[in-house]
Amino acid sequence: MCYKCFWPQPLCWCPTLHPMETRTRFVFLMSPKEFKQEKAGTGRLTHLCLPNSELRMGEGFDKNELVQALINDSQNYPVLLYPGREARNLSKGDLTLADLGGRRLVVFLIDATWGGARKILRLSPSLQRLPRIMFTPSAPSRYVIKQQPQEGCLSTLEAVHELLTALERSRLDRYENPTQLLGVFQRMQDFQLKCAADPTRPGYRRRPYRTPEERAAQPPHVGKRRMKFLKVETVPSSAA
Ligand SMILES: [Zn+2]
Repeated sequence: MCYKCFWPQPLCWCPTLHPMETRTRFVFLMSPKEFKQEKAGTGRLTHLCLPNSELRMGEGFDKNELVQALINDSQNYPVLLYPGREARNLSKGDLTLADLGGRRLVVFLIDATWGGARKILRLSPSLQRLPRIMFTPSAPSRYVIKQQPQEGCLSTLEAVHELLTALERSRLDRYENPTQLLGVFQRMQDFQLKCAADPTRPGYRRRPYRTPEERAAQPPHVGKRRMKFLKVETVPSSAA
């Protein structure tokens, strides 16, 4: 086991990850559950690509020294990545250099399921009080493995890619190597799909994963009745 990337030594990611400097400081807050299932998670790999980032594990973060020091440092402009009505949308330019007023942007990202993220927030009033930011994803999730339940539900790695793209557009940061994060993501998925197709490996699945295109054609969690109620028109994929 490599204790940096937490993958088995022969599959260690570390030599292929190139540190990418950012002005923004990223802080990944990981729930213990996600930490255990880290194999499919992308938070740690993203953290290893970003020297100006931290990763902390826990359920509540109000007593976490590093988190509190970053929130309370007057040189910082701490925000929480969490979509919602009050969140400033970086893709729409809702956050500017003038807003930062020379302070350093510190972005807290919760790396957990939605349920896990809500729990972390509930147990961390200091995170609840932070201004929230969001972005409009430029592409639906590329995730095949986790089969994201809803549109707009991205892996941590994809979220950071989108965030850096939006930050660069707002001139709040420079995104040096946009292909790296997505390349890491693709390689990780390729490996896991290979495992899923190989009956001799522990991750073998009898039924293969559906591709994002297949999933997009069939919106999940929307029953027929609900679809009728919402007047969703299904367009044949050939016409799209
Ligand atoms: Zn490693």
